[in-house]
Amino acid sequence: MGAAAFVPGYRRLLATGELATRVGALRALERSCTLCPRACGVDRATALGRCVTGDRPVVASWGPHLGEEPPISGSRGSGTVFLANCNLRCVFCQNADVSQRPKDYLRRSTTPEALAAAMLELQEDGCHNVNWVSPTHQVPQLVEALAIAAARGLELPIVYNTNAYDSPAVLRLLDGIVDVYMPDLKYADEPVARTLSRVPDYPMVARAAIVEMHHQVGSAWLTDGEGVLLRGMLVRILVLPRDRAGVAASLRWLAEEVSPAVAVSLLAQYRPCHLAARPGRVPDVARRITPSEYVAALDALREWNESAESLVQPYRLGPAASDG
Ligand code: SF4
Repeated sequence: MGAAAFVPGYRRLLATGELATRVGALRALERSCTLCPRACGVDRATALGRCVTGDRPVVASWGPHLGEEPPISGSRGSGTVFLANCNLRCVFCQNADVSQRPKDYLRRSTTPEALAAAMLELQEDGCHNVNWVSPTHQVPQLVEALAIAAARGLELPIVYNTNAYDSPAVLRLLDGIVDVYMPDLKYADEPVARTLSRVPDYPMVARAAIVEMHHQVGSAWLTDGEGVLLRGMLVRILVLPRDRAGVAASLRWLAEEVSPAVAVSLLAQYRPCHLAARPGRVPDVARRITPSEYVAALDALREWNESAESLVQPYRLGPAASDG
């Protein structure tokens, strides 16, 4: 299929009635919540689980964003919808004011209609896509809003921009709805994930999620005339100090168990935030990465990845970073 003929998958599901069926199936998972692998089992209409989010959408902000990778932001910006709260508790979170202060958002929920209007406004603003940032704990709310927006003319691709602590069963309900998957692959080591994101099983969970995402959209990219991604996946690996991300191990797994042709974005931007910025709290990740740490990550990318679409950030020496 050429880009000129591109129609977001959800528009086809809208036409057949399947989109409404998916909303119902996703909403059913909220009654004893298994929307993510934490499997809190609460009824989200009356109780809160680990993500401290009820059954209404809770949005921190939305608008055109030029700071994503070029195939996502393009020239006119990615239409980001930043969801409030999160199902992880990363000690170095750069958006902790949005992700880890749920009390600030408990009374700020919105409606599916208002969220749909926001998506349509992003389209009117000329954005290339609608980019759901940290969507995992609010998938039913997002798909319900998407169904409303699609009926009112939304036709932008949907980007699922996730920490990858996702349930394969939920992802299967997104098959044909999400056009672009952009998962993190944060860690290769369980004890590190337990210390830095407060979950015991991140590598196993994230790998299963990425396998399902790849099953849906594959390695090849469909892009528009500007090179902006219409359909495909981009795996993000944030290089951490002391290789706490386990970059080579993750890239080797991706090559051997998924495909060496999956596009990877190797991020050099790490800076200690949130608890990692407090003296003595998390010494392992209390500084920026060093040049040699980023070079080692680049070497691993060259060894294990063959995608012509993979992206590396220009490395900039941070004030606290030095070798040795
Ligand atoms: S989405 Fe929230 S309530 Fe549901 S299982 Fe995950 S953390 Fe628990």
